[in-house]
Amino acid sequence: MTALATILKSGANELGIALSPNAVAAFGAYYRLLDAENHRQNLTALSGVDEIARLHFLDSLALLRFAAFDAARVIDIGSGAGFPGLPLKIAVPSIDLTLLDATDKRVQFVENLCAELEVPAECLHARAEELAHEPQYRESYDIVVSRAVARLPELCELCLPFVKPGGVFLAMKSADSDTEIAESRTAIETLGAEFPPSCADYTIPGGDLRRVVVIRKVSPTPATYPRRFAKIKRSPL
Ligand code: SAM
Repeated sequence: MTALATILKSGANELGIALSPNAVAAFGAYYRLLDAENHRQNLTALSGVDEIARLHFLDSLALLRFAAFDAARVIDIGSGAGFPGLPLKIAVPSIDLTLLDATDKRVQFVENLCAELEVPAECLHARAEELAHEPQYRESYDIVVSRAVARLPELCELCLPFVKPGGVFLAMKSADSDTEIAESRTAIETLGAEFPPSCADYTIPGGDLRRVVVIRKVSPTPATYPRRFAKIKRSPL
């Protein structure tokens, strides 16, 4: 067994997640393609089997414990090199996945990666605050996921318009995000979700304590949101 497979299998066990042999093989190919491309362009600051396995793959997979992903329509906002959306799809192939990022080279990378891995996903080069006004995408996802994109008040405005009422937004944050969460109250309530969100802290196998903020959408987001990015940054809700 490769070092990557060993870390993934024992980490998945620790997280209580089942990984098929096909999924483990796909993560091997994902690692090789990410590592090769990272030498050409800077896709991720992390490198090496241990960091990529734990801080990208297992951290992404930890989300599986916090929502019902089977056959869910899922969008990853600001997916970069595919995290957390692509590892979720590799582990749960029934997910209907969209990966969205504003940086073209990252979208091209995940598009090629999905083709190589034979993992179907819609890969979109767009800004979240613009795409969220398109009827085809607005309020059409069961689950929205996002990691390392913006502070929670701004991130809620980018992400909650994509969530169906009754659906959920999983924001991946550090475990010391209490202040950030408290400061998101107006954004969460204005955009049609429930405050306070529930928070679940988990340890990345062999890594840090992390937090998933689980934000439930209960009513439609007013049509005026999201605003233009400059406005979101200048005066967060
Ligand atoms: N989520 C990945 C991860 O955890 O490895 C990538 C994180 S990277 C620090 C942030 C990504 O969010 C970048 O690829 C950037 O292009 C994207 N991004 C930032 N603002 C965005 C927006 N308004 N719409 C779409 N993508 C955005």
